Amino acid sequence: MVMGDPGPGGKYGEYGGRFVPEPLMAACMELEESFRSAWADETFRFQLNTILSDYAGRPTPLTECRRLSQRVGVRILLKREDLAHTGSHKINNVIGQALLAERMGKKRLVAETGAGQHGVAAATAAALFGMECVVYMGELDIMRQELNVFRMELLGAEVRPVKSGSRTLKDAVNEALRDWVSTCETTHYCLGSVMGPHPYPWMVRELQSIIGEESREQCRQLLHGLDPDWVVACVGGGSNAAGTFAGFISTTANLVGVEAAGGAAISNGVPGVLHGMMSNLLQDDTGQVLEAQSISAGLDYPGIGPEHAFLASLGRARYETAGDGEVLVAFKLLAQMEGIIPALESAHAIAWVSREAGKTIPFGSTVMVTLSGRGDKDVAQVKDLLRGG
Ligand SMILES: *Cc1c(COP(=O)(O)O)cnc(C)c1O
Repeated sequence: MVMGDPGPGGKYGEYGGRFVPEPLMAACMELEESFRSAWADETFRFQLNTILSDYAGRPTPLTECRRLSQRVGVRILLKREDLAHTGSHKINNVIGQALLAERMGKKRLVAETGAGQHGVAAATAAALFGMECVVYMGELDIMRQELNVFRMELLGAEVRPVKSGSRTLKDAVNEALRDWVSTCETTHYCLGSVMGPHPYPWMVRELQSIIGEESREQCRQLLHGLDPDWVVACVGGGSNAAGTFAGFISTTANLVGVEAAGGAAISNGVPGVLHGMMSNLLQDDTGQVLEAQSISAGLDYPGIGPEHAFLASLGRARYETAGDGEVLVAFKLLAQMEGIIPALESAHAIAWVSREAGKTIPFGSTVMVTLSGRGDKDVAQVKDLLRGG
């Protein structure tokens, strides 16, 4: 079954799996077993849903974009993850993992972060559950994201600089895995997207599938029982897209993931193993993993979740790209047409829809776009970019 349980091997066709050293193998298996039992337990589901509604603000609304739709020529509906606590979909994942960690008797969370958003979300969940939290962050990213470093510290987390390799997200994941190997007795590794060794790609998709389930029902209410023609989401590691697609996989909707042009693991990557999984990765001729480049730090991951690589190979979802210039235009467009300032990541999805309306997307189609986050964090950067600074 597509987007079902990948089974104990965690394979999505040839992708996925669990490419980790022996000590981590045991930790991954313990985690898989615990998640399986929690996910089948009504009490766990009830506790999770209660926190998601009373603390994180779910369900998030579905917004009809009247002015933007008229401008672009297709009917655009936005799933408003920007309105969730901490300003993005990341809260869905971290609350689920923290609740699971508590159930497993773990008192400490480790996390990786690139731009700092997953780090902030993990620190938030740790504060809520009264857990210790260590966030690994590349030295270069620490310099670029001062405010998020301060946010994490304010929330009570310790931010540990990673000085190895390119000193960015890729190296932070390696460091978090290294911590987990030696601490898994007491520690849960709270991974931020649908990547890494099994069970993470599956578990994170399941925790994010609330986006797709809610929005499918909200669309059916609004569209008199029909599904949208197109469902579009931006893709970094691919968690908001996977959660969205999960709700529509059994419908006839066209599924589209939009990657940053400078981080397009599906369009420009080749299969390889990184961070415990087999997936599509940006690599040079010698197999060295390359750095992704984008104005939105949240899409700067050189790989993509293995299930997306599989959906692409099946042709069930297509993966497109948006460039920095058109993303900035879309950022302003949504602000001025709808009064919503999107995260730069989410603006990639808006950019693709506005470019392809009347081309790939026939005029008059209904398009559901997941707005993965709000743009407050990006306003200063966009100000500098628009002033050419
Ligand atoms: C982190 C982030 C993303 C990218 O992560 P995915 O796992 O691909 O969803 C996209 N949008 C926002 C707002 C983010 O914070």
